[in-house]
Amino acid sequence: MIIKIKDGLASISDGVRVLLVDRSGRLMIYSNGKETFRRSLFNQFLKVGYKNGNRTIKVLSEKEAQNITKEAYDFLREVKNDLNYFIPNLENLNWEFLFKDSIELLKIYRGPVPIVPPDQYFPVYVQITIGCAWNKCTFCNLYKNQPYQVIEESELISMIKSLIKYFGPSLPSRKSVFLGDANSLLIDHEHLVKYFKIISSIFKLPIYSFVDAFLTQKRLKEDILLNLKRFGLERVYFGVESGSESVLKLLNKPMNVNTALEFIKQFKKAGISVGLIFLAGAGGKKFWEEHVKRSAEFVSKLELDRKDIIYVSPLHEYRDLPYWETVKETGKLGFKEKLEQFKELKLKIKDEYFKVKVKELQAPVVLYDIRESIY
Ligand code: SF4
Repeated sequence: MIIKIKDGLASISDGVRVLLVDRSGRLMIYSNGKETFRRSLFNQFLKVGYKNGNRTIKVLSEKEAQNITKEAYDFLREVKNDLNYFIPNLENLNWEFLFKDSIELLKIYRGPVPIVPPDQYFPVYVQITIGCAWNKCTFCNLYKNQPYQVIEESELISMIKSLIKYFGPSLPSRKSVFLGDANSLLIDHEHLVKYFKIISSIFKLPIYSFVDAFLTQKRLKEDILLNLKRFGLERVYFGVESGSESVLKLLNKPMNVNTALEFIKQFKKAGISVGLIFLAGAGGKKFWEEHVKRSAEFVSKLELDRKDIIYVSPLHEYRDLPYWETVKETGKLGFKEKLEQFKELKLKIKDEYFKVKVKELQAPVVLYDIRESIY
């Protein structure tokens, strides 16, 4: 049995099974040799794997999650004598513990369960704004019934205190701070810089955030970005969705491609990395070519490096959202076609970048399923 302890996390392996738990006993990742499971702090379980070279994701039912929890904690208790000092509550770990723990976390936040990009494995989510200030994209249901709000400084302080208490001895396992929700950098400069100062002085971790490229651009100027960089802003993620304004119009995302590009360049200039998220399937069959072409052109107008990342996320079309009507006109891509479009996008993005810059694109182009955006 191999046990490794590092930064508030314990990993246990017997050569077949692998388990990752934090110092508070929270189950994070478990693999039984055949299948791998990821658990979110809100107690969602995902089965993740690969089939025919493609990543597969299944959200587990409660019953399935309970069974995996039992299996994982039984495995943990096989090494209880070695780990009692690190995880004192080891004997009491079970489904109920995880469930109660997730309820405690839920009480700290206002609004919906946060989402984070897939490269944010162990962040502390700090919700400085709630919801999305735009909230009108026709395909998006993330914050539908949630009015946009900026939290007060006193609430930020009490949220931070609650988070420190919640994570307790496991706080060192957190690798970053992720600012919520959809447009956290939109708040006025004075508050933004103040909030960054508070957060960075307490957690001393790199900071990440989503940011929109149509509302926020009017607010953030170069000197502010330099300040945010100074206080730890490492990377921001833009839901670009498409480089085609025709497709953006269908999505009701009021983003002007040129001003968005200028805005993204400002972040790069300030030394802040960027994550660009495109949607595979946006614009349906009708706009397939236009979407791929313009998205590749969009990327080629930026100077990207290894710290940047390009995500392509298959669009989920929901019947109860306005985009469903659009789909009737444009045609809808099936899941396999979306994967095909991802591959085409990846190729075109790299080709176009090379053509324009006469050098390889260093930023990876990665497929990402929004179901993996769990916190
Ligand atoms: S896609 Fe982003 S900007 Fe559009 S409504 Fe959803 S969260 Fe807001």
